[in-house]
Amino acid sequence: MQNFEFANPATLNEALGLLGSQWGEADVLAGGTDLLSLMKEYLHSPKRVVNIKNIKELGGIAKSGTGLRIGATVTLDELASNALVRQMYPSLAQAALEVSSPQLRNMGTVGGDLCQRPRCWYFRRGNGLLGQDENGKSLVTTGENKYHAIFGSGPALFVSASSFGPALVALGAKVTLVSASGKRDVPMSEFFVSPKSNGEREIALKPNEILTQIMIPAAGTNATYEVRHREAVDWPLTSASVNLTMAGGVVKSAVVVMGHVAATPWRASQAEQMLTGKKIDAALAERAGEAAVANATPLSENGYKVQLAKVAVKRAILKAAGLTV
Ligand SMILES: Cc1cc2nc3c(=O)[nH]c(=O)nc-3n(C[C@H](O)[C@H](O)[C@H](O)COP(=O)(O)OP(=O)(O)OC[C@H]3O[C@@H](n4cnc5c(N)ncnc54)[C@H](O)[C@@H]3O)c2cc1C
Repeated sequence: MQNFEFANPATLNEALGLLGSQWGEADVLAGGTDLLSLMKEYLHSPKRVVNIKNIKELGGIAKSGTGLRIGATVTLDELASNALVRQMYPSLAQAALEVSSPQLRNMGTVGGDLCQRPRCWYFRRGNGLLGQDENGKSLVTTGENKYHAIFGSGPALFVSASSFGPALVALGAKVTLVSASGKRDVPMSEFFVSPKSNGEREIALKPNEILTQIMIPAAGTNATYEVRHREAVDWPLTSASVNLTMAGGVVKSAVVVMGHVAATPWRASQAEQMLTGKKIDAALAERAGEAAVANATPLSENGYKVQLAKVAVKRAILKAAGLTV
């Protein structure tokens, strides 16, 4: 790890004044469960580390209109155990609870989860976000790609690591990104981006910004279903989050988002259309699962993820509808 200056601001304004205009000048530190690994592996070598855990205004979960405001430094454990979150957004509480170890849930924060870097082993070994050799040839397409993307036209083939991303996209949430010169609210559907070059990032955050809060509007009945290696302290293989607005037992509108299958959370529009105007039962959920993966383009070693994604969609729909999975 390279030497760095450590800053411990008490206010958001102070913290913003310590960030740089380019990546590499300063990194925000929340729980440190990803940042420290990135620094030890020389993937991030910031000149300054800005600890945000002592900034009170970045914490807390509170009602905001008919929805909720969740502060960026809320831990995964606080999120999973919060009564309002469990009642209004079980899909999010489920995603938080399934992050596999109590240590991670106690230290990791919601903002850090959304900003964590991809787990692609080529990226983590220093081959860049696109996982290329020195001649710009993809190492992913010809190499070890069993945990990589099954959707998207590339060139990025890592999968978005955040378990909260799919749930928050399905819930229609927004994040607030604040810099010294102002703030912007970004819909979760635009927060995750598929980079076209190694110099880009996989999220909309800029180097001089801090993600301060997540705003979630009132939602329908919602659920997340994750497929994981049994007992592993690891990320899901695939997941699906579903948000259903029901009227008289019939689906008025549906949002279905798959996770860990592409460089961003992946919306399954065909499944959504199939559900709209219908009453949910096991056969419809099965067909929606099939529709969700109809356009998958698996790589040489990850065809198995298509089946897992199909099952995740089907079970998330049944769960959101309150039916037996
Ligand atoms: C073994 C293991 C298994 C895991 N399994 C899962 C899983 O199943 N699902 C899942 O979603 N995650 C999983 N994680 C990831 C874990 O949830 C994240 O590491 C954690 O949530 C990151 O939060 P943090 O507060 O520790 O972030 P940090 O490590 O402090 O920061 C992570 C990154 O985000 C930036 N950052 C943090 N907060 C902010 C902010 N407010 N504004 C701007 N930038 C910010 C940092 O600069 C850094 O680049 C796993 C991690 C490990 C090690």
